Amino acid sequence: MLGRSSRIAMVVEDRCRPSKCGLQCRKRCPVNATGCQCIEITASSKLSLISEDLCIGCAICVKVCPFNAIQIINLPSSLDKRRHIGTGRIRSSSTDFLFQILAMFWAWVGTNGIGKTTALQILAGILKPNLGNFIDAPSWDEIFRYFRGSELHKYFTRLVGDNMKATMKPQYVDNIRKSVKGKVGDLLNTVDERQVKDTLCDFLELNKVMDQDVSGLSGGELQRFAIAARAMKEADIYIFDEPSCYLDVKQRLKAAQAIRSLLQPKSYVIVVEHDLSILDYLSDYICCLYGTPGAYGVVTLPSSIREGINIFLNGFIPTENLRFREEKLTFRVTESTRGENRGSDTPMLQLSCHDQNKT
Ligand code: SF4
Ligand code: SF4
Repeated sequence: MLGRSSRIAMVVEDRCRPSKCGLQCRKRCPVNATGCQCIEITASSKLSLISEDLCIGCAICVKVCPFNAIQIINLPSSLDKRRHIGTGRIRSSSTDFLFQILAMFWAWVGTNGIGKTTALQILAGILKPNLGNFIDAPSWDEIFRYFRGSELHKYFTRLVGDNMKATMKPQYVDNIRKSVKGKVGDLLNTVDERQVKDTLCDFLELNKVMDQDVSGLSGGELQRFAIAARAMKEADIYIFDEPSCYLDVKQRLKAAQAIRSLLQPKSYVIVVEHDLSILDYLSDYICCLYGTPGAYGVVTLPSSIREGINIFLNGFIPTENLRFREEKLTFRVTESTRGENRGSDTPMLQLSCHDQNKT
C-alpha cells in the first residue's frame, strides 16, 4: 500500500472478510507464490494488505476475491510521481506548474469522487499533503524539504507562515444551516473585510433575506450567502467549490461575475465547477481532473478554456497522448414538442449530454 509505484492497490475494508474467503487472494497471487509478501493479512486490522511496490498488476486477486474487495488500478505511465501531493491517493501531475500562474483565474472540471475537494483543501491549507505516506503525516519541515526549489515550496511557505491567506467556499452549502447560526445581515457584517457588503448583497440579490436566519434560507439563497461571505473576505487565495449549484441561469451568471471580480494582480481564484458555460465565462485556464472515484485523481496541466473543455469532453489529453475516458461526451440539441412543458406555443430547445459510444 505504501510507496509510489505505478499502480494503486485498494482493499475495501468493509468487504474484506478473510475468515470467510479461504484467503483466495493470498493463495493465488503469483508474487506471493515466489515467497514475497505481496498480499498479507495484517495482524492489527485482520484485513488483506497489498504491497503496491511488489504487485505486478496481474489482477488475479481481483478476480478470485469472492467479495469484490480488491481494486488494482494501473496508473498512466506519464504521471510524475515526484509531484504526488495527496492526502489520500490524489496524484497531481501539474501542481508545481499551476502555482506559477499568478493573477489568473484557474478552473477545475472533472467527475466526482476523484479528489477535487481534497486537493482544494490542501491548497487552502485545511489539509496537509501526505507525500504518499498514508500512515504517518509528514511535518511541514518535511513538506518544505520535499518541494524545495519548486513553486509549491514557496506556496506552502507563504500559506503556513500566514502571509498568504486562503478562504474557501465549501461544496455542500446545506451544511451551513447546521454549522452557522444567526441572521444573514449580522453574519455578513462580521466578515466584510473588504467593505463591499452593500454592493455585493445588492448584486447577488441578498437584500431581501438580510433579516432572515441562516437556518431558514433556501438552497439558492444559501449558495449566494456562502459566495458573498467568502468574497467579502480579504484573501490571497479564493477557492469556490461548485458555486453554481442551486442557482438559476441568471443567478449563476451574477455569481460568476462576483467571483471573477476578486481577481487581483497577485491573487489566485480557483473554482471547481461542472457547468461548462460558466467555466467558459469565468476562467483563464482550465485543469481537468480524471481518475478512479474513491481511488485516485490526477490534475492535468492547465489549458486554455477552449482546449480544456475539449479535453474534458473528448476524454483525451493530446499533449500527453493519454485517454482518460473511453467515451466522448457530446451534446445533442433537440426541439421538443411545442409548448410541451410550458403550456405555450413556444418551441423549446433541449440540450442533453451523451456518451458518444452509447448513442
Ligand atoms: S481481499 Fe477478498 S480474498 Fe482477500 S482476504 Fe479479503 S475477502 Fe478474502
Ligand atoms: S494484482 Fe496480481 S500481483 Fe498484484 S496483488 Fe493481485 S494477484 Fe498479486
